[in-house]
Amino acid sequence: MTRKAAALISGGLDSLLAAKVMQEQGILVEGINFFTGFCVEGHTHAIRKKDKDKPKRNNALWVAEQLGIKLHIIDIVEEYKDVVINPKHGYGAHLNPCLDCKIFMVRKAHEWIREKGFDFIITGEVMGQRPMSQRKETLPVVQQESGAEDLLLRPLCAKNLPPTLPEREGWVDRERLYDFSGRSRKPQIALARQFGFEDYAQPAGGCCFLTDENYSVKLQDLWNNRGEKHYDIDDIMLLKVGRHLRPEGQPFKLIIAREEGETRFLSGYKGQFQSLRTVSHGGPLALIDGPPLNEEQQRLAAAIVARYGQGKTAPEVELAYRPAGGEEIPIRTAPMAPHEIPQSWYLA
Ligand code: SF4
Repeated sequence: MTRKAAALISGGLDSLLAAKVMQEQGILVEGINFFTGFCVEGHTHAIRKKDKDKPKRNNALWVAEQLGIKLHIIDIVEEYKDVVINPKHGYGAHLNPCLDCKIFMVRKAHEWIREKGFDFIITGEVMGQRPMSQRKETLPVVQQESGAEDLLLRPLCAKNLPPTLPEREGWVDRERLYDFSGRSRKPQIALARQFGFEDYAQPAGGCCFLTDENYSVKLQDLWNNRGEKHYDIDDIMLLKVGRHLRPEGQPFKLIIAREEGETRFLSGYKGQFQSLRTVSHGGPLALIDGPPLNEEQQRLAAAIVARYGQGKTAPEVELAYRPAGGEEIPIRTAPMAPHEIPQSWYLA
């Protein structure tokens, strides 16, 4: 009887290899990719010119294609909020709740396999690879707290762990699993070569923006200024785009496009946000996050935005301030000089 495994597919090399190892043992594998809203790839690469050489592909789909497996992309944006906002096991170096995140994803995968009649779950975890969720002490925590228990098999480090049900039952041959551990990527790269995989994604640092320091600073700032830990999907998308500045003592934040692609992306939010654009010169679009600006605040915001346009050295620049969904109001102002904008105003 062919046994079936659900593989958590992030789009990185480890999950690709884990699934491949199972396929080599005759297991029928299907992939699950959870969409949290914080994923690094795809979205920002597609917007920014600077990333134009990076493939504009969804790496999870690409991995599934390499493996020839079905991929189920599951939107968990709403349910995942509680993981980010109230992680029982706390955060890692930044706002990354990796251990709670892993537990949550494996729990969801466990529900999924029960519903779909699959036999077990596999992940590409490697013992000691990540400081929070992939430590010797935390791997069992994921099994226990997710409820998956010994239906969770990690083919890349299984030999360092007690045998799971699929191994004990002989569905998979433990001898043909691996004992990878530590932060070195060499064993994975060698295994990839053995399987003939050349062009795989190598996410630096982590699989999502929550491991990114700059991103976490912006998310924390958002929570601090709202007075509560809360976000919606637009908030977390916008934190990935533009230059974010919060002038000291002001109730607003500016999100200034850094290039054309970002201007186009931010334009889609003009109905929801106040905005500023430069009229007399070429320049970026800026969204304003905060309560409606009074005239003095509009002038300050305009002077900052003008500094990022082609009129930055002109004595005066004309901009248009637009209340959310309203009519444009012209503003003429001198651009701020770089030294007038303190570093502390920059969130990233
Ligand atoms: S890096 Fe992000 S997606 Fe990956 S385990 Fe940590 S919180 Fe979850």
